[in-house]
Amino acid sequence: MKINVLILLFAIFISISACTVSEENKNTPPNYVVIFCDDMGYGDLGVYGHPTIRTPNLDKMADEGQKWTNFYVSSSVCTPSRAGIMTGRLPIRNGMCSDNHRVIFPESKGGLPESEITFAKILQQNGYATGIIGKWHLGHEPQFLPTSHGFDYFYGLKYSNDMDRDPNIDYWESCRYPEQEYFQISLYQNNEIIQEQAVQTELTKNYTREAVAYIEKNKEKPFALYLAHAMPHVPLFRSEEFEGASKRGRYGDVIEELDWSVGQVLKAIKDNGLADNTIVVFTSDNGPWLTFDTHGGTAGLLTGGKGSTYEGGMRVPAIFWGPGIVKPGVVMEMGSTLDLFPTFCAQSGIPLPQDRIYDGNDLTPLLRGGNEPVRNEIFYYRGTKIYAVRKGKYKAHFLTKSGYGGDPLVDHETPLLYDLEVDPSEKFNIADKYPEVIQEINALVEAHKKTLKPVTNQLDLY
Ligand code: MG
Repeated sequence: MKINVLILLFAIFISISACTVSEENKNTPPNYVVIFCDDMGYGDLGVYGHPTIRTPNLDKMADEGQKWTNFYVSSSVCTPSRAGIMTGRLPIRNGMCSDNHRVIFPESKGGLPESEITFAKILQQNGYATGIIGKWHLGHEPQFLPTSHGFDYFYGLKYSNDMDRDPNIDYWESCRYPEQEYFQISLYQNNEIIQEQAVQTELTKNYTREAVAYIEKNKEKPFALYLAHAMPHVPLFRSEEFEGASKRGRYGDVIEELDWSVGQVLKAIKDNGLADNTIVVFTSDNGPWLTFDTHGGTAGLLTGGKGSTYEGGMRVPAIFWGPGIVKPGVVMEMGSTLDLFPTFCAQSGIPLPQDRIYDGNDLTPLLRGGNEPVRNEIFYYRGTKIYAVRKGKYKAHFLTKSGYGGDPLVDHETPLLYDLEVDPSEKFNIADKYPEVIQEINALVEAHKKTLKPVTNQLDLY
C-alpha cells in the first residue's frame, strides 16, 4: 500500500515537473524583430551624428540598448546583402551575386535557391511564427517567394520601389522628382496583390501598422518579424504628416518617419509585455546612394556609399535592443548581418545545420556585455570578386572602383592598406609600412577561396 502511494506521488510529481518544464520551454525562446532599412547610411541618424535629422526613438533605442560602430553587411547592394542576412552565408555561396547584374530585376528568373535555409525557415521549423513585412528582393518566381522560404506571413513588395516604373519617364528624373504615378510596383499580402499600384506615400505607415498587428497577434508564441522598409531607397515617399517635418528636406522627412515607426514597434513590444524576451535589431542593407544627391543619405565620416567596397558602402548603423537580454553600451567590435542567423539559433537553442558553411558567428557574448571579439574579418565582395578584406583593424583593398559611374576598375599591384581604427575614412595608405599584414590578409583570402564551390549564378538567369 505504502509503495503504491509513493509510486502514485512520484508519478504525479513527474507529470507536474514535465508540464512545468514544457511550459517554461514554450516561453523561453526569445522573439526577434529585425528592422532593415534600404540604403540608409552610417551617418543618417541623430545617434550616429547627423546634425539636422531628428531620430529621438532610435537615439533612445541605442541608449537603452547597444550602438554598434563596426557593423557590416555582406554586400553593398540590395539582393546579395539580403541573401546574407537571411542565410548567414556570403552570397558567393548560393549564387546570389553576379558581375553582370548587381541585383534581381523584374525580368529575372533566378532567386534564393530552395536548398538555402533562411533564419525564418529554421525558426519556423522550431515553432516560431515568422512574418515578413516589407521588401523581399530574393526572387519573385513562386519557388523563391517569402512564403516558400519559411515565412508564414508576407505583406509588402517583391522587389525595390523604383522598379516597375513608367518606361516613358527618364529613370534618374523620375527618382529625383518622384510622383506616385511614375511607379507601378504592386503591394502583396501573402501571394495576392492588394494594391495594383502601391501607394508609396503610405508604405511606411502601412508597414508599421502591420508590424504592430503582427506583434499583438503572435504575442503568445515565439515569433520572428522581419520588417524590411522600402525607405529610404529612391523614390523617396513619406506620409502627409511628415512632409516638410525635417530640416534635412525630403530625405530627412523619410528618416524621421522611419524613426516614428521604430517608436511604434518598440511601444507595441512593451505594451504586450514582451520587452524582456525580445531582441530588436535595427540596421540597413547597404550604404547611402550618393548618386542621388540630396535624395541619398550620408555615410558620415566614412568614404564612399552604396555599390562600393569602401567603408561607406558596407558599414552601416546597427542598434540592438532587448532590455532582458542586451546589455546597454557602445560596441566597437566587428559584427555583421551574417551573424544574425547563428545568433538567433544560439539564443533559441537550435543547433546550426552541419551540412553547409556559415560565415557568421554568434554575437551573444557581446550582446551580454562581453568585450571579446566574435569575428576578426570582413570580406568585401563586389559581385563575385573580393575587392577588399578587413582583418582586425587593418583593411586591404585589392581592387577599387566607385559605387556607380564609369570610372575604371583599379587593380592594385600592392594593395592599399588602411588602419580603420586610426583612419576610419580610409585616407592614409600605410601599405609600405606593413607588408607582413598584407601577407597575412593574402593568406586569409587563399584559405577563404578554398572553401568556395561553384554554384549556379541566380542573378544571371533570365
Ligand atoms: Mg539597398
